[in-house]
Amino acid sequence: MKALVIEDTATSQAVICHLLERLGIQPVQARDGQSGIASFEREQPDLVLLDIILPGIDGFEVARRIRAMEKPGEWTPIIFLTSLTKDADLERGIEAGGDDYLLKPVSEVVLGAKVRAMQRIIQMRHSLLVLTRKLDGANRELTRLSAVDGLTGIANRRQFDEALLREWRRCLREQALLSLLMIDVDFFKQYNDGYGHQAGDECLRAVAETLRVKLRRPADIVARYGGEEFAAILPDTGLEGAMLVAEALRSAVQALGLPHEGATFGVVTVSIGVASLAPQLTEGMPKLLGAADWALYEAKRQGRNRVQAAEPPSSGD
Ligand code: GH3
Ligand code: MG
Ligand code: MG
Ligand code: MG
Repeated sequence: MKALVIEDTATSQAVICHLLERLGIQPVQARDGQSGIASFEREQPDLVLLDIILPGIDGFEVARRIRAMEKPGEWTPIIFLTSLTKDADLERGIEAGGDDYLLKPVSEVVLGAKVRAMQRIIQMRHSLLVLTRKLDGANRELTRLSAVDGLTGIANRRQFDEALLREWRRCLREQALLSLLMIDVDFFKQYNDGYGHQAGDECLRAVAETLRVKLRRPADIVARYGGEEFAAILPDTGLEGAMLVAEALRSAVQALGLPHEGATFGVVTVSIGVASLAPQLTEGMPKLLGAADWALYEAKRQGRNRVQAAEPPSSGD
């Protein structure tokens, strides 16, 4: 441990340095404020003992400058050395950034006790920083987990709801078009019945991965909406563009070629309902969801493995 002693009186400086050495602490000496600040920067001491009355800038100012030099999260204890016993001076010292004070002439016992107390605080502070860092990491992981669907690894319903609200508001502000795709696996009940629940889960994972890979715009979001249903948000995209994206998703799932004996097409397929509008009011959002749902229902009704647009396109108000 290293302590910087900023003290202009030679005898006092010598006594304090001697006491520090006896406590096993390496003293670094400075005789005025300016050189004290320079030493602080150069030596990076663990503790500063700071006289108040100094030639040039006084101890209060030195403390303020040291505090200003510290980076966020850094802290070096400052103990004022004072023969002043007025309460107001002590208060000023603490306000300037000091942590404690020692009355001169300095007693070895008191100096030792205060140094130990500061060491304890440094230790606790260090443990707290380590703990805080761990907690930050755990919180980040929790936030990530709370947004991700456990089975497929894509966004979950909760993240979808947040993203839809966010994109809705943004498109409302920017007078942009917003499209929504509702995607549902065809004959999935039969798939589970025929191949088992585990294979069903594998199938959902494969479909999710295909949707994720096929949606290439960074702003696009695909989520597991629930069960075997997925949803995609396409910001800044009109109906025509959304229909092209939907068709690409539909054909990519079919091209996976996952065998499905019980289905019309012999492989796993999806039906997709597409709705698009320029958001007008915040309350218009259920209308977009309803329109996409209706289109999905229509795609199912017309035979599945197809893309259907909501008609007529809603205006959102
Ligand atoms: P449609 O073509 O009309 O969409 O018929 P469907 O059989 O796909 O639709 P339905 O809603 O009748 O069945 C959905 C099935 O999806 C019911 C349920 O067994 C299955 N399912 C929902 N979530 C999961 C899941 O997490 N894992 C598995 N393996 N199956 C699921
Ligand atoms: Mg002095
Ligand atoms: Mg289905
Ligand atoms: Mg369904």
